[in-house]
Amino acid sequence: MTNQKISAEEMLNKIFTIMQNLYDEMRLNKSGQSTHLKVFEIFAELGRTLVGADRASFWRWDKRAHLLMTTAATGTEQIIISDKSGLVGQSLAENRTILTNDPYNHPNFNAAVDKKTGYLTKSILVMPVSNCHGEIIGAYQVINKLDEAGFDEIEDTKRLSIAAFICGMALESDMFLADSQRDKLTELKNRFGFHSDYQTKYRQATPPTSLIICDIDFFKKVNDTYGHNAGDAVLVHVAKILSTACGNVYRWGGEEFIIVLEGANIFDAASTAEKIRQSVMNSVCKFEDKEIRITMSFGCTEMDSKISVEDNIKIADTRLYRAKETGRNLVISG
Ligand code: GH3
Ligand code: MG
Ligand code: MG
Repeated sequence: MTNQKISAEEMLNKIFTIMQNLYDEMRLNKSGQSTHLKVFEIFAELGRTLVGADRASFWRWDKRAHLLMTTAATGTEQIIISDKSGLVGQSLAENRTILTNDPYNHPNFNAAVDKKTGYLTKSILVMPVSNCHGEIIGAYQVINKLDEAGFDEIEDTKRLSIAAFICGMALESDMFLADSQRDKLTELKNRFGFHSDYQTKYRQATPPTSLIICDIDFFKKVNDTYGHNAGDAVLVHVAKILSTACGNVYRWGGEEFIIVLEGANIFDAASTAEKIRQSVMNSVCKFEDKEIRITMSFGCTEMDSKISVEDNIKIADTRLYRAKETGRNLVISG
C-alpha cells in the first residue's frame, strides 16, 4: 500500500507505469476482457494511488433498476446496492462531491457493506461522474486515506478528477455499445448483438450448438387489421414468449427472431422450436380492447463450425422458407 508519502518523481513514474499497462492491455487485449472493464480496473488503481487511499471503486448507476453497481473495485468483489443507499447514492442524488472523515457519524453512511465484508471504513470521498450531456451516470469513490488526517476536498478531488473523468468516458462508451446492440421495442439484442455474441461466445463453444430462426406468420395482416401499434405490441408479446423459453434470443429484423441453443443438437432444437410454436399459437396478445392471435414458422439447424455463421443462418433460413411454403405454423429441421 502507498502508506508513506512518496516523491513527485516516484508518483509520476507510478502514473506512467499504470498508463503504459493500460495502453498495452488495450492494444494486446492480454486478459481477453472487455477493454472497458480494464479501463475501470486500471483507473480505480490510478485514483487510489493518486490520493493515497486504501481502496477505490467506480460505480455504474442503473437508473431503471434503481441500482448502483461497482464496475471495478480494488480489494473487494463486485458490490450492488440500492441507488437510495449510502454516500454514493447521496452524491448522485445531489450531484455533488461528498466527503467524510468520520463516516459512522454521517447520516447517510451505509454500514451494511462493512458489516458484510468485515472492513472498517474511516474516510470516504465520492465524486459524481457525468456523460458528455452532463447527465450523471456513475460515481468514483475512494475509501480510507492512508494519511491519518483524512481526505482533503480540494486537493484530493483535483487528483481524482483524471480517474473520474476517464472512467466516465469509458462508462459512456460502454453504455453506447450496449445500446447499439439492443432493440428498443422488444429489448432483445439485435443483429449487431448477435454478431458480437457470436464472436465472443458461440464461435468458441463446444459443439453442439443449434440455431433457430423464426418469423411471425401473416404479420402484415396484423398491422393492416389492427394498426401499427398493435403490431408493435405483438412483437413485444412474442419476444416475451421466446425469452421465457430460451436465454439467447435476438431480434433479427422486422418480425424475425434468432434463437441460439448452446449444447443442443438438431433434435433438441426441433423439440424446443415445437414447444415455442405451440406456446405462440396458444397465446393471446391483448392490445387495447382487442385479442390478437398469431402463429410462427421455424427453421432449425445444428451449427457447423466448418462453415461461416452466415452460411449456417442461410441453412436455417432456407428451412424457414420451406415452413412458409408448406403452410406456415410449422417447424422444419432437416
Ligand atoms: P409471412 O407469413 O410470409 O412471413 O408474411 P408476413 O406478412 O409476416 O411478411 P411480410 O414480409 O409481407 O410483412 C412483414 C411486415 O412486418 C411488414 C412490416 O411493415 C412489418 N414490420 C416490420 N417491422 C415492424 C415493426 O417494428 N413494427 C410493426 N408494427 N411492424 C413491423
Ligand atoms: Mg412474417
Ligand atoms: Mg419476415
